[in-house]
Amino acid sequence: MGIFIILMGVQGAGKGTQARLLSEKYGIPQVSTGDLFRAMKTQDTPLAREVQEIMKRGELISDELTNRIVRERLAQDDAQAGAILDGYPRSQGQAQALDAMLRERGQQVKLVALLELDRHLAIMRAEGRRFSLDKERTYNIYFNPPQYRVAGVWLDDKTKEPLIQREDDYRDAVVRRIDVYFETTRPLIDFYQAQGKLVHVNANQSIEAVSEALIQAVEQHR
Ligand code: ADP
Ligand code: ADP
Repeated sequence: MGIFIILMGVQGAGKGTQARLLSEKYGIPQVSTGDLFRAMKTQDTPLAREVQEIMKRGELISDELTNRIVRERLAQDDAQAGAILDGYPRSQGQAQALDAMLRERGQQVKLVALLELDRHLAIMRAEGRRFSLDKERTYNIYFNPPQYRVAGVWLDDKTKEPLIQREDDYRDAVVRRIDVYFETTRPLIDFYQAQGKLVHVNANQSIEAVSEALIQAVEQHR
């Protein structure tokens, strides 16, 4: 049947962190629309440039383009048995498109986990987020720092190279995106609540505790 799990939650709630853990546990890929759009950076097409501009402003990409990108990603071999969706859907239009996409394949969303975190903590989590150069490891300078800091520069535990910050993780852009989140996601929460698929998870716990809660929710919905 496939295991399609949606991780919802404000910026900084831990979707990326948890998607990676669930992906390892269930052997299905993490599909992050933010990562897919960021990967377009290397392309020099009018569309790719437009996407970059919209992201820089902290606004949302159109449903049409977002749905297309997800459809293409889910058509790949590794996503036939399921995926952990991180950052998608973010509107009712996207949620309906996803339902239709999966229905065509005889599949459906299994579970929607809402990682709940208040606005203040979300701002700190997103603003304090740092990545290794290969983006494989995520740290947080306030909550989950690396071992070393040399002359004010945080270093990756594994490679000892300087950590990088996403260019839209500066305070103003973070606050703007978080406000958009709280304004726009309510209908989506109601949509999945009505389908009986929504599970609330307290995101203000250790990474391990959140992970355990998520795995328990997945097992109960299997
Ligand atoms: P999202 O994908 O929801 O925006 P991330 O997974 O990127 O969130 O996490 C945001 C930041 O918070 C990262 O710096 C990450 O290391 C940190 N983080 C994630 N989960 C926790 C947690 N449970 N406790 C403390 N820090 C966390
Ligand atoms: P964040 O959750 O911090 O905004 P993401 O990595 O999820 O970060 O997304 C980065 C940017 O990519 C968003 O600000 C938005 O411009 C675009 N984006 C990602 N996912 C979607 C989506 N589902 N719908 C529309 N735009 C999206």
